Amino acid sequence: MLDQTSLLIAIGFSATALMLTLVITWLGSTRDRYLLSWGLGLGFVAPSSLLYGWFETYDLLVQFSAFTLLLAGFAFIYVGCAQFSSGRTPWRVALAGWAVTTLTMGSLFAVGLSGVATIVLNIGAAVFFMAAGREHWIARASTPLAMLAKSALYGTTSVTFTLCALVLAMNGQWVLTARPQNWAEDLNSIALLAALAAAGAVTMALHQFRITETHRRLALTDSLTGLLNRRALFNLAGTAPLAPATGVIMLDLDDFKAINDRFGHAVGDEVLIRFAAILSRALGPDDFAARIGGEEFCLLLRNTDSILAHAIADGIRRELEATDSLPDGYGPPTVSAGLALTSGQARTFDELLRAADELLYRAKDAGRNRVLGPEPRLVA
Ligand code: GH3
Ligand code: MG
Ligand code: MG
Repeated sequence: MLDQTSLLIAIGFSATALMLTLVITWLGSTRDRYLLSWGLGLGFVAPSSLLYGWFETYDLLVQFSAFTLLLAGFAFIYVGCAQFSSGRTPWRVALAGWAVTTLTMGSLFAVGLSGVATIVLNIGAAVFFMAAGREHWIARASTPLAMLAKSALYGTTSVTFTLCALVLAMNGQWVLTARPQNWAEDLNSIALLAALAAAGAVTMALHQFRITETHRRLALTDSLTGLLNRRALFNLAGTAPLAPATGVIMLDLDDFKAINDRFGHAVGDEVLIRFAAILSRALGPDDFAARIGGEEFCLLLRNTDSILAHAIADGIRRELEATDSLPDGYGPPTVSAGLALTSGQARTFDELLRAADELLYRAKDAGRNRVLGPEPRLVA
């Protein structure tokens, strides 16, 4: 037999330390509410464990308070898991689960069925842990290893709570005068200690991973249009020769400086956003669009040919020309484009980009609002 009192007190201190870590981390990133929910959850588990561990004989008020706090803690942990996995805050479900279990427990304690009340506590706890594990299981795709680890920890803890309930029921311990001592209780204390400590560590690792991911995404995204930025496009395209049938379209808005000068920067920005939306719609599943300069954009097309690429570029040009006119009879914004393709021979992205850029500037010279491709018949 393990010393259960020490285990329960260990859970209490470990939960307190984790609570502090999570709440302090939350203070530095208050939008990540799951950190606060977990912190609060552990904030309830800690006093409950200390209380439950301290008093070995069953005292109605002490047990009821300890169990109520424990379930509140598990409810918050479940809410935190849902917030982390899906952004939802299922507080109604958590509150209802907590209230129903607490009321049932309270009534059973009141009529002297302290053992049955303890069985109800164990079932309530098992359900909260199963629900928490399920949240991570559903969202496992993003970070499989960590999410599956948390899911397994919660699942195991849920099973040990169920075992505690079963052992009490099988022994017919409907009335308890002291804390139950059996193998299931020992297993449960160890599982809970491991689950809280390991889940805390995994949570912090997952949180760090999310921050890194967000920074990585921001570093590769153009903040105004949401398209890839220059760095992202160059990373993606690489320096090796491109696959056959790859196309590059360079696009540059016409007389954009004049639009800015005449209508102001905000209108200019609105045109950039309008144009980026057109580009996004024109993309195939394997294609990429990037804003590589102020009003310069680049499309990287896979599995294309000169006719298809030209049709895409000219479609974009026409779509922009068909958008709302700018004020004072200025007319709609327009764009010029140049396109280049690997056409069977291996060429690097840099080479294609330069070829497309060259054609783009010829398109500007030829009067703007047109697309120039590598073949004369493609000249619009
Ligand atoms: P062209 O038809 O030859 O391309 O002429 P242009 O006026 O479009 O070209 P130019 O390179 O002279 O001007 C580009 C302008 O784009 C200048 C700059 O102020 C503006 N610009 C660059 N970045 C932004 C931005 O983020 N927002 C806005 N509103 N304007 C920008
Ligand atoms: Mg321009
Ligand atoms: Mg330009």
